[in-house]
Amino acid sequence: MLPDSVLDRIAAELYDYQGSGQSVMEMSHRSPIFMDIFEKTKEHFRKSLSIPDTHEVLFLQGGATTQFAAIPLNLMKESADYAVTGNFSGIAAKEATKYGKIHICADTSDSNHTEIPEQSGINFSENPSYFHYCENNTIYGTQWNYVPTAPTTLVCDMSSNILSKPVDVSKFGMIYAGAQKNMAPAGLTVVIIDKKLAGNQAPSTPMMFNYEQQIKAGSMVNTPSCFPIYVLGLTLDWVDQMGGLAAMEERTRTRANKLYEIIDNSKLFTAPAKVSARSHMNVTFRGTTPELDKQFLEQANKQGLVNLAGHRVVGGMRASIYNAVPTEGVEKLGQLIAMFDK
Ligand SMILES: *Cc1c(COP(=O)(O)O)cnc(C)c1O
Repeated sequence: MLPDSVLDRIAAELYDYQGSGQSVMEMSHRSPIFMDIFEKTKEHFRKSLSIPDTHEVLFLQGGATTQFAAIPLNLMKESADYAVTGNFSGIAAKEATKYGKIHICADTSDSNHTEIPEQSGINFSENPSYFHYCENNTIYGTQWNYVPTAPTTLVCDMSSNILSKPVDVSKFGMIYAGAQKNMAPAGLTVVIIDKKLAGNQAPSTPMMFNYEQQIKAGSMVNTPSCFPIYVLGLTLDWVDQMGGLAAMEERTRTRANKLYEIIDNSKLFTAPAKVSARSHMNVTFRGTTPELDKQFLEQANKQGLVNLAGHRVVGGMRASIYNAVPTEGVEKLGQLIAMFDK
């Protein structure tokens, strides 16, 4: 979802952005008016996440999935360590094997990704170029509740929880996120990268994937996705109005925990994720029978609670309570679960 206030501003400015006589969709990406949107959005993003000067912010395309290849091409000398704790981290590890030696240093497949490894459960290899993990597992509904310590550079996929809490960016070599969960429409991928990591890419690295070249070109090796970048700026304004990232974190945690409490107290529904690993963004749960899940989804749909079916690899239900989902919506879902239980 996008916040209503963001959609309202898009609608108001769609034909004529601030008296320019143009829609943002029509602007040249090099025009002063768009460059102003671009620079302000980048500055705002840096400020919201308190990004230190050591790190550059890139506005790229191709989704988080493109980064699965760009990361090893740019950062891997010989080998890298990957934690596989869900769907996307598994795909990231598989993609990286095309470019070097990948060591799976933690794997939660045996528990069907209902848990997150403890620090002591991560078996780092000898001299990896980086350690890659995904902080929030969108499909299975688990999240790392700590930043792991690694003997190498940390690279983190935050596609489904970025802007939901403050982050100590200085701990990471690189953070990346597709925009479409918590920031803007699909088409924009945000990369936060420690500048000293750039410049070591494999010679075969396509120029679009080349972090050094993208940094030099200010994310404009080619035309960036102008409209999603503009929407990100509006979303950042909304996050400020909500009280910033610390307030978002509190709001996110409170409402997720309320849902988990209702599910835990229910006789018909259970949340498969281990308590210590529960996601605050994607609450997964299931009924005692598939028939019950079907009835629940039907009833939810009638009440305007949509997109609640679990991912096809997991089944059951998944409440993706991203930032823009109104708290009343989360409460209504809690009431429906309790009503079913009764
Ligand atoms: C959605 C998602 C992806 C894939 O994002 P695309 O932008 O579609 O490539 C990757 N990682 C995580 C954690 C996601 O939630």
